[in-house]
Amino acid sequence: MDFDYDIIRKKAIALLEERGVTLLDIANITYLLQQKYYEDLTIDECLENVEMVLNKREVINTVLTGIAIDKLAEEGHIEEPLRSILLNDFSLYGIDEVLAYSIVNVYGSIGLTNFGYVDKVKLGRIGEIDREGKAKGKCNTFLDDIIGGIAAAAASRIAHTK
Ligand code: MG
Repeated sequence: MDFDYDIIRKKAIALLEERGVTLLDIANITYLLQQKYYEDLTIDECLENVEMVLNKREVINTVLTGIAIDKLAEEGHIEEPLRSILLNDFSLYGIDEVLAYSIVNVYGSIGLTNFGYVDKVKLGRIGEIDREGKAKGKCNTFLDDIIGGIAAAAASRIAHTK
């Protein structure tokens, strides 16, 4: 298999969409994070930064991995007790957040602070994804942190460039 990251990047974005998340949803979270610091910030600018974050191989790999685990849990291909832990989004599990750190780490410590915040207040689409994941048989355990990680990384990118 040829690892062409242009193709793999498109696949990662398609997977996010398949799971109900658009890049604009993520850009909106970035906007909510940064609008208080930059009056002239636009959604388009946030979207551009989200797209730049998604150019990074670490980020693409995290999206593929996290969504794969959510889907495997839904489809019953993960053994107990891990399957129930994932389906119930057990709060002490923590590996979903650890995986998302690999996105946030790319842009340094501001990213980590932003990630902690979006995760805590479940900003924008994150809150909905979190709630949708609580439906029976549905698993968004990794997805919410992936979105939060990308949004936080894009926010850090804005902070570094403005
Ligand atoms: Mg989670």
